[in-house]
Amino acid sequence: MAERAAGSYNPPLDDIGEALEVAGLPAVLALARFSHIDAGMVKVVLGELGRFAAEVIAPTDTAGDRQGARYDPATGAVSTPPGFADAYRRYVESGWGALQFPQEHGGGGFPSVVGLALQEMFASANMALSLNPVLTQGAVELLLAWGDDNQRRAYLPRLVTGEWSATMDLTEPDAGSDLGAVHTYAEPGPDGRWDVSGTKIFITWGEHDMAANIVHLVLARAPGGPPGTKGLSVFLVPKFVPGPGGEPGTPNSLRCARLEEKLGIHGAPTCVMEYDHARGELVGPLHGGMRAMFTMMNLARLSIGAEGPAVAERAYQQAAAYAASRRQGHRPGQPAAQPSPIIEHPDVARMLLEMRTLALASRLVLYLASASGDLGRHGATEADRARGHAYFDLLTPVAKAWCTSNGLIATSLGLQVYGGAGYVEETGIAQRLRDARIAPIYEGTNGIQAVDLVVRKVPKDDGRWVHSLLGDIAVTAARAADQKELGPTSEVLAEARDALAGATEWVLERGAETLDDVLAGASAYLELMGATAGGWLMAERALAALHDGARFEVAAGESNFFAVETLASARALARQATAGAERLAVLRRPG
Ligand SMILES: Cc1cc2nc3c(=O)[nH]c(=O)nc-3n(C[C@H](O)[C@H](O)[C@H](O)COP(=O)(O)OP(=O)(O)OC[C@H]3O[C@@H](n4cnc5c(N)ncnc54)[C@H](O)[C@@H]3O)c2cc1C
Repeated sequence: MAERAAGSYNPPLDDIGEALEVAGLPAVLALARFSHIDAGMVKVVLGELGRFAAEVIAPTDTAGDRQGARYDPATGAVSTPPGFADAYRRYVESGWGALQFPQEHGGGGFPSVVGLALQEMFASANMALSLNPVLTQGAVELLLAWGDDNQRRAYLPRLVTGEWSATMDLTEPDAGSDLGAVHTYAEPGPDGRWDVSGTKIFITWGEHDMAANIVHLVLARAPGGPPGTKGLSVFLVPKFVPGPGGEPGTPNSLRCARLEEKLGIHGAPTCVMEYDHARGELVGPLHGGMRAMFTMMNLARLSIGAEGPAVAERAYQQAAAYAASRRQGHRPGQPAAQPSPIIEHPDVARMLLEMRTLALASRLVLYLASASGDLGRHGATEADRARGHAYFDLLTPVAKAWCTSNGLIATSLGLQVYGGAGYVEETGIAQRLRDARIAPIYEGTNGIQAVDLVVRKVPKDDGRWVHSLLGDIAVTAARAADQKELGPTSEVLAEARDALAGATEWVLERGAETLDDVLAGASAYLELMGATAGGWLMAERALAALHDGARFEVAAGESNFFAVETLASARALARQATAGAERLAVLRRPG
């Protein structure tokens, strides 16, 4: 049986470079905000990071899965698996965490889309460990957008480097998808600070031994606010209240009460956090916490989306290597005494190509969403910024949900490629599937992303931005039709575009009348948009290689494969998306 290949991660730098280009990195780098950066610097940085991910982070992955984070009930302390603290220290020292933050706050000033490529490689190397910086970076964005000068001075320098880490504390036993049910409350204290009390569950990296301080961003209810989400505010509650010189000072009144036992990401502690009159600071407006928290959540949604291609890529690399070495059966025409490597069997080749194209297409959709965010924030004209913001808003739920679903499909296929050896832990591929399973759940379940898409994002500005996206796709389909090598791509892409256009009109009309009908097809609609956007960008990727014969041949082949294997389901998805709610009436409720 193949050995568990713990450290073998090969960063797909060429694929990432191509995806950045197709997603619009050149336009982002042309903005005044990024005048100190050029494409060559991005390439060097990603190369260095890839090496770091492969050589320093990936070797910690198996120990993290096998041993997991450990809890000491006597002290409430959490210890991380072997190698995590050292790898994290080296990550902080090398400055990777600061890459995409503004230079005035000690960052490297790179675009967010480059930061997302970094996160993807980190997550491929060790998904559990990579969650720690994802949360810290989200907290930095929140403080940049909503913190006051004192908060920025006290917290940003150490969060930007990763010397201190952060958490996002939303979920409670009765408040999961519906944060309007949050009970944790905050009362004003005498010194302008707040007393925060309550229990938060499922808090990722809520307690650990890798950073000198942990900054919790807690969603809580303060007096005087309306019920529901409109009465919520964000409070910054540090594990150690910083002293006058900024050093971690007095321990705060909070503790990790236990860790969850879970299916995957064993190296990432999932904590029940108890706050008992803990000292906190209000961040952003009182009773305006959801808007502030969404700054963190929207970016975290793309980071979690990146776990999709990250696990798909890692599983693909493992499964392809296994399939090249495992011999079983023989291809027709070959002597039975000479078993073939299973990669020669068409069905195995199909599975591997599906994994690869899901990783490629997911990466493209994610990077487009992120690059749109960069254009939205820093675009040269009002019109550029409006379009950037709108595409970022529209594509974020799609990128989170479609890409994490693809991660699950790809890791499951990877396990299938291994046959029985995939189902036992020794080969390591099972970890990919177990780790991948959380991504469609946390950071807003994929079902909630679908609701967000059809209820808020698609109807925005009377559907103007979906229509704009449909226009972009039509242009690419027409360009692809001029290339005979892209025959299946152009044909299926045009069909999928029409299917998405039809479903969109239905969503816009029906949503105004019978919301339940639209909600019943929301997940299918999201998948339809994800697949169509993925097919569009796969075609763009092939067209971008037109002048490089060998590259074009492969990219066109991958685009055609994706079109037939994944995108061709668009018509069926459109049918599901528009089937209405009546078909659900046959469900029998227990009891
Ligand atoms: C390992 C792990 C790490 C996590 N990390 C964090 C963290 O760091 N911080 C944090 O705050 N939380 C964290 N979470 C919590 C996570 O975000 C929630 O589990 C998730 O948002 C879903 O909430 P829930 O579990 O209460 O499920 P529920 O809200 O009970 O949902 C159950 C099902 O019902 C569906 N559903 C619910 N409401 C609707 C609706 N209105 N329309 C359609 N479908 C609906 C959901 O899609 C889901 O399928 C973590 C969870 C896990 C397991």
